Amino acid sequence: MTATHSPSTELPVVVIGAGPIGLATAANLVTRGIAAIVLEQGNHAGAAISDWGHVAFFSPWNFSIDPASREILERTDWVSPDPERLPTGAEIVKDYLLPLSETAELAPLIRYNSRVIGTSRQGLDSSRTIGREHRPLLVRVESPTGIDDILASAIIDASGTWGQSNPIGASGLPAQGETDSSAWLVGALPDVFGRDRARFAGKHTLVVGKGHSAANTILALAELKESEPTTKITWAIRGSSASSLYGGGSADELPGRGALGTRLKAAVDAGTVTLRADFSITSLTPQANGQLLVTSSNPDRDQSISVDALAAATGFRPDLSILRELHLSLDPVLEAPVALAPMIDPNVHSCGTVSPHGASVLEHPEKNVYIAGMKSYGRAPTFLLVTGYEQVRSVVAAIDGDTASAERVNLLLPETGACCGSSSGC
Ligand SMILES: Cc1cc2nc3c(=O)[nH]c(=O)nc-3n(C[C@H](O)[C@H](O)[C@H](O)COP(=O)(O)OP(=O)(O)OC[C@H]3O[C@@H](n4cnc5c(N)ncnc54)[C@H](O)[C@@H]3O)c2cc1C
Repeated sequence: MTATHSPSTELPVVVIGAGPIGLATAANLVTRGIAAIVLEQGNHAGAAISDWGHVAFFSPWNFSIDPASREILERTDWVSPDPERLPTGAEIVKDYLLPLSETAELAPLIRYNSRVIGTSRQGLDSSRTIGREHRPLLVRVESPTGIDDILASAIIDASGTWGQSNPIGASGLPAQGETDSSAWLVGALPDVFGRDRARFAGKHTLVVGKGHSAANTILALAELKESEPTTKITWAIRGSSASSLYGGGSADELPGRGALGTRLKAAVDAGTVTLRADFSITSLTPQANGQLLVTSSNPDRDQSISVDALAAATGFRPDLSILRELHLSLDPVLEAPVALAPMIDPNVHSCGTVSPHGASVLEHPEKNVYIAGMKSYGRAPTFLLVTGYEQVRSVVAAIDGDTASAERVNLLLPETGACCGSSSGC
């Protein structure tokens, strides 16, 4: 290793988020002896995943564990999960992220209940360009003890996109009445068999969206309908066909992902789920009878449906507000790093055709600032953990001055599947 980083004299690298990618970043930093601080807004590692802990991953365990993190865990009494099994989100947290966050190597680095609210260069706002690279980076963090500024040698933002849902409105803006309809909105991944069951049993739910979250929610509702036959499920998509979500079926190298699409198609074909295509929601109107009137207007026809609940699985977008004082180079369409965007454009690529990439693709004009993990994909929905693990291995090598290792990106991604783009032919 050609390490040129001098951790004893330098400021720490600040990692935003203790999800799987934030922790993998920390594991790589620790392995290279680089000082690090991980700031996590939740009260435990994997806090965002805990929100959808009831959902099953479509990747088995062997595609879900970061190699540097595994090395650290294997020095403890951690028992590696069955590599072929599909974990739930809750198991990813309980059997991987929590044990990792509690290791002697990582535990001292992580600060919980610490929400990053801004980043910058010390003493320089975004409009000042001269000598920026000689000033430390600055991370502003809000915690129960107040607001603090932390100086950093580098920032790796692995804060994900969970919690930044796209609005339901067809134009990327909230539909008319959306903000007044929160009582009917149940989020992208409600816990259909657990805490949210009563909202769906014997009721009419509209699921909106054409990604894995929509598929998961529809299939959970279809299963509920088996024991609660008056349950009604409508699925609305903007486009004219759902075939891209039906995916690669048995040809998918992630069988869990293939099965999701196959089961969804079967539920639609059997009439358990009513599919409404070309449904672009323009307004939500609470009704006197307690239902919500959901209206779609498009040039060809207007349609409306009255429902008891609406699960908006409309995808996520990154929160860029905390990076506003830094000089980023982001694609105007996807809000992903500009060199990465063409590689992940959902109109062209499935998650299996994304090339391996690392520091050079993720860099910005602002030196030593990187966005990694789910957030690096901006609005593209095809991120896989294995991609993120390779991203941060490379980024940490680059920060360490180990250019050879940073450039040697190597990753085998599962092919085909439900995340194929509309023009990719699958
Ligand atoms: C339902 C679902 C199923 C998925 N299934 C798979 C799968 O099978 N295989 C796969 O490879 N990928 C899957 N993914 C995609 C992806 O791997 C996960 O979303 C993964 O959690 C992304 O990891 P991350 O570390 O980038 O972000 P996150 O897991 O979202 O972690 C980000 C962390 O940052 C924290 N944070 C956010 N903002 C701040 C802030 N301002 N300050 C401090 N902390 C902050 C959050 O609390 C969170 O703990 C799935 C995603 C979803 C939603």
